[in-house]
Amino acid sequence: SFFGGIGGASRKGILVKGSNYLEALAKAEIIVFDKTGTLTKGVFNVQEIHPIELTGEELLEIAAYTESYSNHPISISLQQAYGKEIDNTRITEVEEISGHGVVAAIDGKKAAAGNAKLMKKLGIPYYEGELIGTAVHVAVDGKYAGYILISDEVKPDSLQAIKTLKRSHIKKTVMLTGDNRAVAEKTANILGIDKVYSELLPGDKVDKLEELFQEKTENGKLVFVGDGMNDAPVLARADIGIAMGGLGSDAAIEAADIVIMTDEPSKIVTAIKISKKTLRIAQ
Ligand code: ADP
Ligand code: MG
Repeated sequence: SFFGGIGGASRKGILVKGSNYLEALAKAEIIVFDKTGTLTKGVFNVQEIHPIELTGEELLEIAAYTESYSNHPISISLQQAYGKEIDNTRITEVEEISGHGVVAAIDGKKAAAGNAKLMKKLGIPYYEGELIGTAVHVAVDGKYAGYILISDEVKPDSLQAIKTLKRSHIKKTVMLTGDNRAVAEKTANILGIDKVYSELLPGDKVDKLEELFQEKTENGKLVFVGDGMNDAPVLARADIGIAMGGLGSDAAIEAADIVIMTDEPSKIVTAIKISKKTLRIAQ
């Protein structure tokens, strides 16, 4: 009957890689979510452009060029906002720094686009005022060139999913994100997530998961839900790793035990229901 459960799940767009994962899901106790692309759409809109000593269009161009080799949702959004074709011959020496951003040479000039951590790493003073949104700071030849403020939206489906999980037997919901604290806390508040950890580097996410393992009971299961390349180690470490399969990265899909093809967090509720029903039939 576990095979029946797997079949039922797959008809709802939930791919389960083994009957043991479906069985374990009925004992889910703590559910940990990544933010960007998992609970939010992962589609960022440009809100404001604050250039220094150049035009907004030029700042956006530098950011789009610097980021053009990245598949990060932020990069994809910048390419869209820029809207023009990228001349790859102008770009050399590209390096993506996980959890920070990208550095590249554009027309031979060293450019950088990423968060505050990236600017600190490069020793470049940047705008440190309170911002509501995610800032992409840009520097050219070691000089700050301004920032682009972007923002993402919560998936409407996430709200319903968290609400339902909290009404079921889930002990705790947690959000782990590399994004800044203001954005992280605002998102967690909207969704009613119990606990939020922000400004995490990919390695920090695994450390937080290890801490959360201490909080569950012996038989309870720890679930992690993510979509990004940098979520793969966390997906692998969790009792049950669930990946978003639609826009999710190949690394996340590969590392996961369960894949939600529709990218809807509410499918976790569906999967838990199928798991419990299958267990009853099996016993
Ligand atoms: P999350 O945990 O929210 O999925 P990531 O670990 O991918 O996020 O990124 C954390 C933060 O690092 C982002 O919010 C962003 O500020 C910054 N960042 C990562 N990659 C890029 C990039 N390609 N361009 C700009 N900023 C980036
Ligand atoms: Mg993500």
